[in-house]
Amino acid sequence: MVANYWSMLNFELVVIFGIFSAVIVSLLTIFGIGYLPVFVYRRWRARQGTNESLRAANELLQTVLSLSTKWDARKFKQLSHCPICLETYEEEDFVTSLPCDIRHYFHTECIEDWLELSMNCPICKVPVTHETINQANQQFEK
Ligand SMILES: [Zn+2]
Ligand SMILES: [Zn+2]
Repeated sequence: MVANYWSMLNFELVVIFGIFSAVIVSLLTIFGIGYLPVFVYRRWRARQGTNESLRAANELLQTVLSLSTKWDARKFKQLSHCPICLETYEEEDFVTSLPCDIRHYFHTECIEDWLELSMNCPICKVPVTHETINQANQQFEK
């Protein structure tokens, strides 16, 4: 009688435990599947943000590079060599001035490589931004 009672109790415990685990597993699955779109959306948003900032940086770089001109000994008197590669400017070289100072000019290829790593002038460390370019253009027009 006593043995029977215990085996009944054990059976009930096993059933209750079984149902309990089944409920837990289903809940986890439901939450897991429910969270999946959120996870995918967050990943997509993060990637979108990176693309956006990359595109903005590239656009800024192209704006700076579009200001490049052929080196001219009469126009570029301050520096006879490029501060990045330390080579002397030649007649056929293309140079780019940064918006911080018209005298801060570099080989176009040298400053392109530089700006891909850091958007600051190698001489005075002033950041290259759309604002500084606009300011420089306004000064130039005056
Ligand atoms: Zn150079
Ligand atoms: Zn500078």
